Amino acid sequence: MGNNVLVIAEQRDGVLKKVTFEMLGVAGTLAAGTGGSAEAVLLGAGVGGLANALAQHGASKVYVADDPTLAIYSSEGYANTLAALIGKAQPAIVLAGATAMGKDLAPRLAAKLGVGVASDCIAFEMEGGRLLATRPIFAGKALARVKLTGDPQVATVRPNVQPAPAPDASKTATVEPTPAVAGTIRAKVVDIVGAGEGEIDVAEANIIVSGGRGVGGPDGFAPVRSLAKTLKAAVGASRAAVDAGWIEHAHQVGQTGKTVTPNLYIACGISGAIQHLAGMKTSKVIVAVNKDPEAPIFKVANYGIVGDLFEVVPLLEKEFKALLSD
Ligand SMILES: Cc1cc2nc3c(=O)[nH]c(=O)nc-3n(C[C@H](O)[C@H](O)[C@H](O)COP(=O)(O)OP(=O)(O)OC[C@H]3O[C@@H](n4cnc5c(N)ncnc54)[C@H](O)[C@@H]3O)c2cc1C
Repeated sequence: MGNNVLVIAEQRDGVLKKVTFEMLGVAGTLAAGTGGSAEAVLLGAGVGGLANALAQHGASKVYVADDPTLAIYSSEGYANTLAALIGKAQPAIVLAGATAMGKDLAPRLAAKLGVGVASDCIAFEMEGGRLLATRPIFAGKALARVKLTGDPQVATVRPNVQPAPAPDASKTATVEPTPAVAGTIRAKVVDIVGAGEGEIDVAEANIIVSGGRGVGGPDGFAPVRSLAKTLKAAVGASRAAVDAGWIEHAHQVGQTGKTVTPNLYIACGISGAIQHLAGMKTSKVIVAVNKDPEAPIFKVANYGIVGDLFEVVPLLEKEFKALLSD
């Protein structure tokens, strides 16, 4: 087993996801502990051009598996290709994003390699030459520090928690083509339905404005959407709002929705059930608007406004508009 840290770069439609850069930051720190370097692997079709950005963010080597069979993500095609590469490259640690893709890929890859996986980790350090990762458990009620016994050590990294290193245009990387090993692909993606035009995915957003049962109906999301637009934010929702059919599931934050860690999370008419908190508790700043002063959301909020969201949210938007136009 070598001592490098391999990042599975994630791209969609030729654009690298932010978590890829965040993982390169983690990889750089861990590589200092393993005595190796940060490397990355890119999979897709026509993706070679992205190697430069990976180099600028700290990858000293970029493996590129560029093949039409990898154009659309498939669990088996990607896992087979990565397992073959890892067998050859022998990294000490493999990092994937705790994204829809990484959550599907990392366990399958780990199983192929006969090792465990530490999923959705929020902190990383080296102890005694081994990775020590911290991951929330029991819907965020506790944190577990886990060490993996097998090699390589596979972990997924929660997006938006780790800082991404600033790009350094003077940095370059060795680019090494690596073959695609499609194998038998028994399940394939037939269609990808994107978010509505102009909508920001909550999992990627820096700012989220969320609505819950308190918005009262589909039309009640209007002030939430309007504030989100002003702040260039994504629109989130509680499960109650999604189950009521007021907004699509793609917007749901929580245990059975998406896990988000934006810089700012504004919860409007959301009570703060444990299953909702599980998805947003690690947000950097939380603002809650709720007419019930006893609502549990106020326990995790940095700023709380007790009031009717239909009065408060438009006022907030007015203030933000004024501030942003200064
Ligand atoms: C296995 C499991 C998984 C789950 N997964 C999720 C999940 O992923 N995400 C999730 O969100 N939930 C999830 N839930 C559901 C969760 O338990 C709660 O039922 C849900 O989060 C409640 O949503 P809410 O806060 O919008 O509604 P409520 O709990 O009904 O709260 C509505 C809030 O709005 C306030 N309000 C009402 N009107 C106004 C107004 N005009 N102005 C201001 N405030 C107002 C009320 O005071 C209240 O606090 C899950 C539950 C289970 C059992």
